[in-house]
Amino acid sequence: MAEVEITGLEKTYPGGARPAVRAVSATVADGELLVLLGPSGCGKTTLLRMIAGLETPDAGTIRIGGADITHLPPRERDLSMVFQSYAVFPHRTVARNIGFGLAMRKTARREIEAKVEWAAGLLRLEDLLDRYPAQLSGGQRQRVAVARAIVMEPDVLLMDEPLSNLDALLRLQFRAELKKLLADLGTTCVYVTHDQVEALSLGERVAVMDEGEIVQAGAPLEVYDAPASIFVGGFLGSPPMNFLEAVVDGGAIELEGQRIPAPPGWTAGPVLIGVRAETIIASGTEAADALRAAAEVVEPLGSATLVTALVGGQRLKVQVPADFTVAPGDRLWLRPRPDRLGRYDPRTGLALT
Ligand code: ATP
Repeated sequence: MAEVEITGLEKTYPGGARPAVRAVSATVADGELLVLLGPSGCGKTTLLRMIAGLETPDAGTIRIGGADITHLPPRERDLSMVFQSYAVFPHRTVARNIGFGLAMRKTARREIEAKVEWAAGLLRLEDLLDRYPAQLSGGQRQRVAVARAIVMEPDVLLMDEPLSNLDALLRLQFRAELKKLLADLGTTCVYVTHDQVEALSLGERVAVMDEGEIVQAGAPLEVYDAPASIFVGGFLGSPPMNFLEAVVDGGAIELEGQRIPAPPGWTAGPVLIGVRAETIIASGTEAADALRAAAEVVEPLGSATLVTALVGGQRLKVQVPADFTVAPGDRLWLRPRPDRLGRYDPRTGLALT
């Protein structure tokens, strides 16, 4: 069992004004893939490096499979790490790069060869084993870095933005391959990214970080559909969730002088309405329960069209089908699906339940 259990982890760098990681607790189940997601500087890498043993926490504990490893040196932890900068050795062949960790462990040559072949097969590197890194593409080099990590058959795999050096198309391809590979291997994995699409697509669970803290953790779609705060809703998803200033009054939502029915149970008072672009039904004809809006920008994406619309003085993004005819300046009627509306406290930015 390689469950990772983090309790009350804290880290402030010398001279740092604020903690890079504060009071972080999280559990990654055996075989689970947890994605740490957050903006640059939120503490993702610091958290990962503490799990790896490359940074010393100021407080808190890290357990793997129940054993406290907080103060063990990195090499005594049964884990492998893949870095963003894939750090392969330029003067070693692919085979020797992949087998490096095993050789350091004084594994028998036969066994190294067999395991390198196994890992190379999983990453489709069989035909490249005699090449040097300079003779590889970026995508192939990244595969070598992943092969080098999994060949060790670690209890826990730590990945820090492993796809960020690849171009968009390669990233898309490798993302799906990596997901299958990790599922097949069943290795417990903590995966750091600031790319929210990657987080949604890869993670079995996503932990969203902000200023050193985990602000929400859950299944990707759970977090996407019901963000706990306007920070999470604004960070996860492309486009970000729309937030509109409104007042709930007498069973209606009042927004820019217009009224639409409020979902049952909404109490009176000022709110920020949270609504995803794809949960708004747009129409060119007037309807009583829809908001009158004007199209400002129209962006065809191929699979759908993204419309920036103005409701009074407030802007929002609406996703319409690709065959929906709309041009800048057109009048639109927008009906947010009531079952997908969220409400947030305008003062704290936290979800109201
Ligand atoms: P990114 O996505 O940009 O890599 P991150 O979320 O991984 O960001 P960290 O690298 O963990 O963030 O950094 C968290 C905070 O700690 C930042 O404010 C950063 O400036 C600071 N920090 C990181 N490493 C050090 C260091 N070695 N010394 C001092 N401060 C550091």
